This record gives sequence, C-alpha cells and structure tokens, in this order.
Amino acid sequence: MSSRVIRKTEAERRSAVMPDPEAARADFSWQTARDLLEGMPGGGLNIAYEAVDRHVAAGFGAEIAIRWLGKDGTARDLSYQELDGQAARFANVLTAHGLRRGDRVFALMGRTPELYAVALGTLKAGMVFTPLFSAFGPDPVRTRMEIGEASALVTTATIFVRKIAAWRAEIPSLRLVLIVGETAPDGCVALAPAMANAPDRFATVATAEEDVALIHFTSGTTGRPKGVVHVHQAVLSHALTGRSALELTPGTSYWCTADPGWVTGTSYGIIAPLVNRCMMVVDEADFDLERWYATLERERVAVWYTAPTAIRMMMRAGEGPARGHDFSALRFLASVGEPLNPEAVIWGKKVFGHPFHDNWWQTETGGIMIANTKAMDIYPGSMGKPLPGITAAIVGHRNATLAELGPGEIGELALRPGWPSMMRAYLHEAARYAKCFVDGWYLTGDLALRDAQGYFWFIGRADDLIKTSGHLIGPFEVESALVEHPAVAEAAVIGLPDETAGEVVRAYVTLNASFFASEALEQDIRAHARRRLGPSVAPREVVFRENLPKTRSGKIMRRLLKARELGLPEGDISTLETDEK
Ligand code: AMP
Repeated sequence: MSSRVIRKTEAERRSAVMPDPEAARADFSWQTARDLLEGMPGGGLNIAYEAVDRHVAAGFGAEIAIRWLGKDGTARDLSYQELDGQAARFANVLTAHGLRRGDRVFALMGRTPELYAVALGTLKAGMVFTPLFSAFGPDPVRTRMEIGEASALVTTATIFVRKIAAWRAEIPSLRLVLIVGETAPDGCVALAPAMANAPDRFATVATAEEDVALIHFTSGTTGRPKGVVHVHQAVLSHALTGRSALELTPGTSYWCTADPGWVTGTSYGIIAPLVNRCMMVVDEADFDLERWYATLERERVAVWYTAPTAIRMMMRAGEGPARGHDFSALRFLASVGEPLNPEAVIWGKKVFGHPFHDNWWQTETGGIMIANTKAMDIYPGSMGKPLPGITAAIVGHRNATLAELGPGEIGELALRPGWPSMMRAYLHEAARYAKCFVDGWYLTGDLALRDAQGYFWFIGRADDLIKTSGHLIGPFEVESALVEHPAVAEAAVIGLPDETAGEVVRAYVTLNASFFASEALEQDIRAHARRRLGPSVAPREVVFRENLPKTRSGKIMRRLLKARELGLPEGDISTLETDEK
C-alpha cells in the first residue's frame, strides 16, 4: 500500500458527473439507472434499442456514433442513423438465413466497422452476441463454439481458412458462416453483398429484461472455459457506470482500446458509450505509441479507457514521444484489467495532465464494480471504492463460515449479488456457477484488502489463472494443448511476473520415453502451442523437468512450482507426493 495521495481540487470534484460519491452511494437506487434508459415503446428492454434506436427516434441520428480509424490510415464516420441502418441490415441478413430469436452469433474479428453492425444487429434481432479474441488459435475457438452452440459465425476469409475450415462441419449447431467482404469461401456467405441487399430497417425485437443478450467466455483454472451469460437488463449497469465511473456524457469523444474479444470491448467498447450517446473513437490498429498520441490529439479524445500493459509500454518509451502533442481535450483517464502500478497513475498526471483512474471488474460482473471516480482522491495502487449500488467486502473463512474481514486484512474480494449486469449462469455448468456463491456473497476469485478509508487494494488471484497483457488465461487449456504434442507426457503452466505484460506464461513439461530435452524440441513444442492456441495464449517458455510436483491424488501443484520459481514460501505441502518433497 502506498501512502501517496493525489488530491482532487474542488473544481475537479464539481466537474464530475458524480461530484459527491458518498452522497450518491447513500441515496442510491437502481431507479436512477432506469431513468437513463427509455424502455421500448410497447414494453420490453433491448440493449440495441437503448444504444441506437432511441437516439435516432429522438432526433440525434446525425450525431457521430463511431469515428473509425483504419489500419491503413483511412477514416470513416458513422452517424447514429447510419449505425442503426447497418445494424438493421445485419439483423435482416440473420433472419433471412433462418436464424431466430435466441440463436447465438459469434464474432471472430478485429475492430472493423462491421463489428458494430454485427453486435447491435444481433441484439436487435433478439439473438445472442458472443465475441471471441481473433488472436485465438483454432483450439480455443472450437472449444468455445462447441460450448456456446454457435448458430452463426462472422469472421474474415483469412481467419476462416486458417482456423475454422478444417472442423466447421463438426459443429452441428453452426448453420451460417458470414465472411467480411465481397467474396466468401464455399459454403460461406459474403457479408458485404448480403448487407447491401438487405433492407436498412428492422423492428427491434422487444426482448424482456431477463432475456439472454451476451455470452462472454472466460477461462477457468480447471476444465473447460466458462460461458458467462448476461441478459438485456445489464444495460442498466452499462449506462450508469459509463457515467459514474467513466464520465461519459452525450457528445463525449471517447476512446476504449480494449480488444473486441474481451468483455470490456463490448460493455465499454460498444454499449456504455452508445447508450450515453458518445462519439466512439475506434482504432482498428493495435498499440503503436506514435499513432496513439496522434489519435488522442487529432480526435480531441476527452475520455480514454485503456489498460496497464499499454500504459507500461508508453512509460517505457519515456516522456519524449509525448512532448509536443496537445492533449488539452482529455478530461478523464481510466484503466482496467490488471494491477495498475502506482507510478503509472502518477505518470498519467505528468504526461497527460490527469492521473489514470484504476477500476476493477471481471467478465462475470459485466460492468465496473470498484472505481476511482473523478471526484475521489486517488491513492495510487488502489482500485478505488465500490460504486453506488455495489456492496463489496473482503471475506475469509472463520470457523467454517464466511466472515467479513476488517481493514488491512487480506482475504477474498466478495460482492453482494443483485446488480443488473451480474452473470446469470455459466452455460451448461450449474454446479460451477453455484460454487461462486457462498453465504450470500459472490466470490470473485481475487485476493484483496480494504483499508480504513474504504479503498480496495488488489493482492493477487486466489486461483491459478494467469493475466498476461490483460488476457485471462486458464492454465488447464494450455496444458491440454501441450500434452497433445507427441513428446510431452505432462505439463504444468504458471504465470511469472513480467515488467510489461504483468505476467508471462511459462510451461513445465515432462517428456515421454524416447524423447530428449533439446533446444529444437523446446522450439517445436512452443510452435505447436502457438499453432493450436494462438500467440497470445501459448507459453513464451517451455522448461523440461524430470518430474512435476503433484498431490497424492495426482493433481499438479502449480502453486508450488511458482513458489519455487520465485523463491517464495512453499506453503502447505502436506499433500505433496513424498518423492517430490
Ligand atoms: P476478465 O474477466 O478477463 O476481465 O478478468 C478479470 C480479472 O482481471 C479480475 O478478476 C482480476 O484478477 C483482474 N483485474 C481486473 N481489473 C483489475 C484491476 N483494476 N486491478 C487488478 N486486477 C484486475
């Protein structure tokens, strides 16, 4: 914990959407959030209606919804009216191909203009939007499409041919593959002509608050990835937190750098800004220091939501490249996804004139839960305080029941269920879902502490999940791919600290008889993992071992491997197999 503090001035507090967070918390009711929404004329709640239709109906159709910046330097503006038309066309394409309400539409694509039509058109049609990371290799894509019983997939020709064509026929639920562009491989439909031929009007389906809207996949420590189910009511959380935690108001020039495959890419890269009638800056390209500074300046970005890995990459280049840029339009900076170093918070103030405001949430919570809001003093290194409507605590087991711990005590971060964007299920896994709830608390899997002033501080994961460049990776999925290499007998995967990426993935493997450790074999195993999993998930290093530490019941002790690697206390090793002790 750091004793440094960045105090907000009276003027800063007054300029915040929520000038007095304590008073807002005391007076809170979810009705406040409902007032930010419209509801459908004949009843029903639909995210797309709140994000687009109602703005057009209210006469704001000419305002810019998306300023899209292509990788190749081209730029394109899409008004709310145009976005509405594109989404309607996409909804018509889906229904024309026989898809129906409740069907699941997967997107495996970058930040192209089509992505937004796909997301909103799917929701308009009362179908379920499921984005995946386009950097995933074929294995993670296939697993998720199987679990999610994908009805349709939208992707590019290159991704389709490289990652999907070989097994497409083995997903029985998959009825439609749409390919971005003018042409498509056999058995797929080209999106551009299909959209051009579809009407640009569609009567948005009057979904109910509890109808499923989104499925986001997230990794688990064991077993298969989890399909996290969110409903249309989540839009209440998106609308409200967009305002209270991110300062989004109509007309705000807002840039969210999240990957579309990550929950942030949907909740705050599509829904929250559109619901709040902002102008979203969308950059198709990935991180590029000069390009980012130029974009902040040229687009007069006012609110910027990014992630610690990117901030650390900027910091590594020093302040030099930022000099000479005009960042005067910026009024709020926020960060999410991984621990934000205290230095990064302060660096923001030095270089951009504002500190980075860390906030915390996860795929399951659907929206921001804990935040440093604009009116709050910042204690760099802290994630902030729970937002109005959110009750958070640090809990631990005391005499076999869960108890709230006091200030300064480390325990598991827990939330009282009941906010609109809370997950409603893990697909097909009722028991796994039920295990998240104990004694009236939702357990987040994160270790944290709360200080005497009520600020929360992140300590680490309570499980073996790895966060690398903001990407949550389940070791089991990586280990499963590794043991499919003919040389690998067993594998254990852990995250090791890294200055830029937060953590990097390292694998330990034992070899089958007749295979011998060598540099060539290490490279071959890494290449195999990259092909199967994609570069962002595959281990950066593979280390050969004679044995891996296991419990007597045969479970690999990743925690022990990690402790040994980092020279940390080994903790309770009573269940370790004796020959390993
Ligand atoms: P995901 O579901 O992929 O968004 O990952 C959620 C996890 O990311 C959380 O459970 C935390 O472990 C981590 N995380 C998210 N935000 C923060 C933050 N502000 N500080 C530290 N860790 C964070």
